[in-house]
Formats: sequence, C-alpha cells, structure tokens
Amino acid sequence: MAVIMERQSVNLGIRMIPFNKMQPFALNPRRQPPTPTSLDELVASIADLGVLQPVLVRPQAGSHEPPDDAYEIVYGHRRVAAVERLATEWIRTRKDGQHPPSDAHRGMVPAAVVLDLSDADALTMAFIENAQREDMHPLDESDAIRDLKRLDPTLTVRGIADRLKLSARRVQRRMRYERLGPLVRSAFLANVITTDHADDLAMITDVALQERALIEGCFQALGATSPRAASLKKLATASPEDLDALRLSVAPLRSLHQWIHDNIRQDPTDGAVQEEFPELAQLATTTDVATLLQVSDHSWKVPTGVLQREEYREVTGKKSTHGEAAIVVHGGPMRLVRICRDRACRAHWPDLMTRQTPADTARAARFEAQAARQRKAQAAWSRTRRSVWPALVTHATTHAKLSGDLVRRVIGEYATRELLRRAKGVKLTDANAAGVLALHVLERSRRTRSELSTAARLVGFDLGKWERDERARQKSASKKATAKSGRAKGGAK
Ligand SMILES: [Zn+2]
Repeated sequence: MAVIMERQSVNLGIRMIPFNKMQPFALNPRRQPPTPTSLDELVASIADLGVLQPVLVRPQAGSHEPPDDAYEIVYGHRRVAAVERLATEWIRTRKDGQHPPSDAHRGMVPAAVVLDLSDADALTMAFIENAQREDMHPLDESDAIRDLKRLDPTLTVRGIADRLKLSARRVQRRMRYERLGPLVRSAFLANVITTDHADDLAMITDVALQERALIEGCFQALGATSPRAASLKKLATASPEDLDALRLSVAPLRSLHQWIHDNIRQDPTDGAVQEEFPELAQLATTTDVATLLQVSDHSWKVPTGVLQREEYREVTGKKSTHGEAAIVVHGGPMRLVRICRDRACRAHWPDLMTRQTPADTARAARFEAQAARQRKAQAAWSRTRRSVWPALVTHATTHAKLSGDLVRRVIGEYATRELLRRAKGVKLTDANAAGVLALHVLERSRRTRSELSTAARLVGFDLGKWERDERARQKSASKKATAKSGRAKGGAK
C-alpha cells in the first residue's frame, strides 16, 4: 500500500484468530452499522465460501511483542460481525458430535496482523479500504479527517488529501462539516439533505442561523409550525416514513442560496469563505480584508454596517481606480467590486445632476425668466380685462373715423374681397364705406325673410316692393319666351 507510514510497521502475516479476541477499532471511519439485509447476505456467503479476504488487525494497547491475546480490527468489521453471527448460530443449532463444517463456523477469522501500526496509519488504511469498497458518507469522511488531524496535528490539508487519496478541495469541504450543528448533522446523516446543501450550510458559522437556513431555506414550503417542520426538529427519532417525506419535500438548492443571500451576511475574514473564493484569498495576502467596505445587492433587510444598494454605484471597467474597493457580502453572490459613493460624481450619479454645464445653467435660467414674465403678464391682464371693453367702446364711438381702410381692417381682407366679388365690381371707397359695412352686417346676421326685411329697412331697402317688382319682371320674361317659342313652331309647319 503506497501510503506514507509514520513508523516502520511489521507485517506478521496471516493468522486464524477467533472473533472474540477482536475488538472494534475505536477510530473506525464508518460509523453507520451495516444494514441487516447486507449482513444477512454476507453471513450466507461466508457459510458457503468462508472468509475470502483476510481482515486487518493490530495488537491492542500498541504491543510490540507478537500478540496472542487481544486484537483491534483496523478494517473488516462486517466480516468479523458476520463470522460471529454464523458461529453463534452454529453452536445453538448443532447436534451432538457434529463438527463445524468450516473455520468460519468455529468462529475463526483469517487476519493479517501488523505490529507498530500507529493510530494515524491505522485510520488511513481503514479509510482507504472502506472508500475503495463503497462510498462513505461525507460525514464519516469528515470525522475521519478530524481524527487524523487530531492524531497528527502537523498534517496539512494537502498532506491529508495525499494520505486519503482525496482532492484537497474535498478535504477542505469535509473539514467544514465540523461546523454543522446537531440538527443539520442528523438531517445530513439521514440523507434528508444532500452534500451540496451541507456544503452551503457549513458556510454559516452560527448554529442557530444554520438551523433556520435548514428549515426555511431547504424546507421553505413547510413553514415553521407545520408537522413536517416538527419531524425535522426531531430527526433522531423520526420514522422512516417521516424521513422519506422530508427527502421528497426538500427544496431545490437555489432556494437555499436565495435564503442565504437574503439573510446571511458573509464574513470575508472567515477562512472557509476565503477558501471558496480564491480572489478574496489572494487579496487577503496583501490587504486586511476586514477593512474592505461591505455592500449589499439588496435595499431591504440589509445588516447594519453594510451599504445598501441605493448608497453606492458600481464602477465598471477592470482597470478603473476610481472609487473604493468593496465586497458584496449580502443579497447576492459574494464578489469584489469597486464602488462610487460620491453623489456629485457625474459619471456614476448622472441622474442626480440637474444642471450639468454652465450652458445648461444659463438655458435653465432663461426658461425660468420667460416663464416668470408670462405669469406676470397673465396676472396683470386678469386684473384689467373687465374694464377694457367699456373704454374701447367709448374711444371707438367718439374718435374712430369711418373710412374704406377701417372697414377693410375690421371685416378682414378675405371677407371684404368676397363681399365685393358678390357685389359685382363695386370698389370700396371712403364714400361707400358705411354701405359696405352695412352689407357685411346684413350678410352675416340676417338669414330668414323677416330678419332680412327688418335689416333691409335700416338701409332704406323696401323688400316687399322689390319682391313685387321682381315677380312682375319674371312673368313678363316668361310670356315673351312663350310667344317666341310659338312663332318658332308656326314657322316650322
Ligand atoms: Zn464616480
């Protein structure tokens, strides 16, 4: 095994050792007991074929001498448990004089015995053996890493990763599970939440907040008082049906993200946060990140000491040195930004700039002065307009001299021209000005016969006499036309 051993260990080879001389390994990385079904299958297979793969043991109490008494199982716990059950059942059911059909029935387990195996090495070997056979629960990995680190405090993340054949990133994330509170731990261990959920929850240092994130972020639909939220609180004693229901009702990961963005202020000085955010870790090598301005993507529920969205504008352009360096710690994914808080800055607060240039200022002043003049004139007119008409009448009736020019101006150029056109060749002069004006008044205001008759009398025109004369003229014109027509007919015969 290409594991870096702390000490030189000595392999004494394979021996047959009775199961009752073997104790479980205190640091066994797989904490979850095997399921009854899988143990049944193993017992059946060992009854048929025996133990094919030896287990690994070391002398208890770190003995250097070849042991003959007690051993500690480094790995192979399930096989020892299976042999124990097979042998116990055989003794209970065997008939007198019957010999055990195999070593396993006699309770003997083939075991590789290794001397001088340190705790750290034993844990490492157990870990890898378990990991090779089956996926371990991430929490088991986390606990094993914690134990390894306790046994050898000099181990770095990289060192642990090398030993356990894991990526450094995975070791880092597993180490963070130590922050998980009891409720989140049990939800995770029962596979109610996924590794992704657990990774996010482990970024929250406060255990009470972690639990709120679990209940509100992962089971949003439940509400704090629903029966399922209650079963979440009592995970340790939850029935398999409750657990299934919880697994089915877990919200998508993005709702947990949203909850965290809305409710959690990320701490840029937290080592875990820096590990997840290399840009920040890089910055932390030259700058005290605690002094960075902290900003929110939200304008609501913003924690004190964090600038809300309205208080700053983001400076774009990667090379820009304008403004201040800041970090988004609330309301959205963490990121480094530059911000401008200078409300007099025209580049980032243009909406606050009402007068931008001297020319704009002058133009605005001109508009304002013009509007003021209009308001003043309007006010003056509304004070005098009631008295202007009588004054105008007085002046016009005493001073105005009737002339062709005045009539033209009063009636208007167009109306004058139309009126004279209908009058067939009459010219407007000072002498007939009064008559033309009278015509205009007649034409515009008199429409019915009686109205026209009244108006016509005013200018000395007898409408009745004119009508009689007109009818007579039309009659005689009609007679002449008939006579003419008759002669034309006679002549044709
Ligand atoms: Zn600016």
